[in-house]
Amino acid sequence: MNIEQQIKSLRNELREHNYNYYVLDTPTISDFEFDQKLKQLQDLEKAHPEFYDANSPTLRVGGEITKNFETIPHTYRMYSLDNSYSKEDLEDWEKRIEKMVDGKVEFTCELKYDGASISLTYENGKLKKAVTRGDGFQGDDVTANVKTIRSIPLHLKGDFPSLFDIRGEIVLPFEGFAKMNTERVELGEEPYRNPRNTASGSLKLQDSSEVAKRPLDCLLYSLKGERLPIKTQFESLEKARQWGFKVPEAARLAKNLDEVLEFVNYWDVHRHKLPYETDGVVVKVNNLQQQEELGYTAKSPRWAMAYKFKAEQVSTVLNQITYQVGRTGAITPVANLVPVELAGTIVKRASLHNADQIEKLDIREGDTVFVEKGGEIIPKIIGVDFTQRDPSSNSTKYITECPECGTPLVRNEGEAQHYCPNAEGCPPQIIGRIQHFISRKAMDIEGLGGETVALLVNNGLINNYADLYLLKEEQIIPLERMAQKSAENMIKGIEASKEIPFERVLFGLGIRYVGETVAKKLAKHYKTIDALKHASEEELITVDEIGERIAQSVVSFFASEESSAIIERLKNYGVQLEISAEKLANQTNTLNGNTFVVSGVFTKVSRDELKKLIEDNGGKISSSISAKTNYVVAGDNMGPSKKTKAESLGVAIISEDDFLQMIS
Ligand SMILES: [Zn+2]
Repeated sequence: MNIEQQIKSLRNELREHNYNYYVLDTPTISDFEFDQKLKQLQDLEKAHPEFYDANSPTLRVGGEITKNFETIPHTYRMYSLDNSYSKEDLEDWEKRIEKMVDGKVEFTCELKYDGASISLTYENGKLKKAVTRGDGFQGDDVTANVKTIRSIPLHLKGDFPSLFDIRGEIVLPFEGFAKMNTERVELGEEPYRNPRNTASGSLKLQDSSEVAKRPLDCLLYSLKGERLPIKTQFESLEKARQWGFKVPEAARLAKNLDEVLEFVNYWDVHRHKLPYETDGVVVKVNNLQQQEELGYTAKSPRWAMAYKFKAEQVSTVLNQITYQVGRTGAITPVANLVPVELAGTIVKRASLHNADQIEKLDIREGDTVFVEKGGEIIPKIIGVDFTQRDPSSNSTKYITECPECGTPLVRNEGEAQHYCPNAEGCPPQIIGRIQHFISRKAMDIEGLGGETVALLVNNGLINNYADLYLLKEEQIIPLERMAQKSAENMIKGIEASKEIPFERVLFGLGIRYVGETVAKKLAKHYKTIDALKHASEEELITVDEIGERIAQSVVSFFASEESSAIIERLKNYGVQLEISAEKLANQTNTLNGNTFVVSGVFTKVSRDELKKLIEDNGGKISSSISAKTNYVVAGDNMGPSKKTKAESLGVAIISEDDFLQMIS
């Protein structure tokens, strides 16, 4: 097989695996094998830019930056649907359409997904364009971002028409949404409000590699085109499925309105088990000929109707607004409600998000409020029943001082949240930081839990995480619910945490915006806490993936005398504040200050080993050649464009042997 055939065959294979995994949900190879093959294709493509394909599976990881999204017209207008809310509404609709068409009317019933609408254009089986709904006549070209969504085929299979559009909804499954929020909260950022807005916001991110990291999915269900080989909506779903699209299984052909209502009633109950948010059913006249006869009103098709499920909503009384202080000092107002049943659970509290939200709702203590459960994990208050308001009530005054320590709150420009700036003296911040330090992904201290941390702080035994290492059994035993055994275990657990590697300690310190991944990068780059402490903002930014916001946060953390003192103490107690000697033994500074680009195939070491050697010896790796590149390590089959570029910039091209010589 020549290189071109090899590339093509890998692409086909990866497409098939991608389809099995993301569309059918039945993978046939392991993730590891998939990654190996993808890596192989990436390497071949890099070495052979002449075989570039805009729809290669390697482009799923993104990387393209869109500064301004171009507005482009839809070939077929994207109409919105009329809504119905009852059986009677649907019966009226059926009567209206039966008068307008000949013959018996059958319906296709589909679920209505709550996401961001998208229109995809395919030409000769390849994805050409992806455009948002916009105003229905024109939308934004988000093709680069949409290509990163794995369930959207870039290449079709079977007997697809040469040109057509397909429409659907880009959704964020509940599970992925919850995971994204956990990560955000860990970084001290405000969680996203709901899956729909997060999905549509994701489509407009400038960096497509950021979009690629989000667990977006795409459900498709509507074909548009000239002379398509189909006669009914139900058939079009089957066809689209055959061409490789992810078409929801929850669709049914209904012979009459009774069957439509059966579908509606079934899903009104069972939709809560679906992995996505749904808010209704879409009923369409099945026969496309009849659809054409019915046509459109000014804003919607006459042949389709959305049936909206009743939002699960109840009214209850707001007893009191209280304020929570988080680990980073962020204040969250909480509505404490008279307990009420909603969607099968008893609701007592709801988040009010921030001061703006309270003002917008004009919500007051004693008000009767409407509570709804949507995609959010926590129920939300959607409004006030003003008819029930006590005329003598006063509008809510947002707190100006921390409810826990009395410090005046601050609100940074452009931020929705108020903060308590008293990081060192505010009890929930102190407790929150220690809880973060001992958490599973950080120091993972066995025998010590979040509630015990609060108990220890409230009893004056500890005030920061360094204090943990001074705790004695006899101090702990007298505490409530503590026995000899549990005290012993705790001390043992704390002692054992001295073996936790530097990168996790660094994460545990709780520097704002320094999550697990960033902590790893910083630990690897600086190797010791002292080196990191002395890094300037300008230096930090040069580290891979470290932006201005993180750099600022790191610098201000180490600028605090309090933090510096705590770190000195941790060091004295034997906590790992540098990469262990064993790990360092394989590392040198030989290549310090040099940036390398690796291209081609190597014989003595693998590409990955080569990259590791560069990093372990202090060098930096870049994926593209620029004026900042010092060396290109060229293997066999180095891409001709890379070669030309390196030569024109005067970058040294060295062989594998030259490189190994450099570090020996
Ligand atoms: Zn405070």
